[in-house]
Amino acid sequence: MQTMRAVVFEAPGEIAVRERAIPQPLTDEVLIRVAACGICGTDRHIMHGEFATRPPVVIGHEYAGTVVAVGPGVADLCEGDPVAVDPNIVCGQCRPCLRGQVHMCRNLAALGVNQDGGFAEYAIAPRKQCHRLPAGVSLRDGAMVEPLACCIHGMDLAGVRTGDRVAVIGGGAIGQLLAQLARLSGAATVLVSDMVAARRKLARELGADLVWDPADGDPTQCGGPLAGGVDVVIEAVGSRITNSQAIAWAAPGGTVLWFGVTPPGHLVEVEPNLIFEKELRIQGARINPFTHGRAVDLLAARRVNVAPLITLEIGLEALPGELANPSPNQTKIVVVP
Ligand SMILES: [Zn+2]
Ligand SMILES: [Zn+2]
Repeated sequence: MQTMRAVVFEAPGEIAVRERAIPQPLTDEVLIRVAACGICGTDRHIMHGEFATRPPVVIGHEYAGTVVAVGPGVADLCEGDPVAVDPNIVCGQCRPCLRGQVHMCRNLAALGVNQDGGFAEYAIAPRKQCHRLPAGVSLRDGAMVEPLACCIHGMDLAGVRTGDRVAVIGGGAIGQLLAQLARLSGAATVLVSDMVAARRKLARELGADLVWDPADGDPTQCGGPLAGGVDVVIEAVGSRITNSQAIAWAAPGGTVLWFGVTPPGHLVEVEPNLIFEKELRIQGARINPFTHGRAVDLLAARRVNVAPLITLEIGLEALPGELANPSPNQTKIVVVP
């Protein structure tokens, strides 16, 4: 029996590198040699027992790699093909699925959450969850396909129109992706707000027109760079303060996209009169239905730059420690098994 190393979530607070048998692909499945798998906030939530999972499970859901074996029935992928994985497996039979809202599937299963995922040397994925990476898209960039796909879904819902002013609150990996997508959507002005100078600098390098330090107050106030308000405000932090800030910055007729994930039970104070007066739309966005293919196409066309977002690469052995004690000042950490 051939074995591999995998990072297994065993119980809340208990994550360890384990030796496991290399799985064999069954019908309509492929076996992938994982090249890169990004660490996401969800992985930390799983580790702290804040996410519904069934341990033991190999975590990691943002991954890309090379197909090394295919199961019966797989005719259009073969050994050597580079792929990025869509981790979200839907049932196709529940009410949301039958209404076309597959990302709200009641029986959603996810590779790396409740089925074995990508923090391992090898991973099994159903063929239909794999997106072939074209030449020119590295496997390392392939690990960014899943988060980029989430951002594309958010942009679809935000509805940026040509010539709009867009503000992205939060210059982490997700905020930097959303800011780039806002430019592609034809925004006249894209502002990125973040307290950290290095993130503001990165945003400028990646094409943001304006950056803002929230310590300097409200950019939509009289005399500010976006006086009069912002047509689409995208919150990419998931905190009480920034959720409220997004509503305050929105222009009349504007849209507020609450993209950052807040913990369940977390409440934000909203002044309904502002929503009325400004006729605001507050929009949520959940995962990435049917957007992985578009994410791959954007990377292939070099319209989105993801490489500078990956600021640290670690091995599997370092992952449990990294999840327990996150390295400071990183944008995106990728595990290279
Ligand atoms: Zn994620
Ligand atoms: Zn379903």
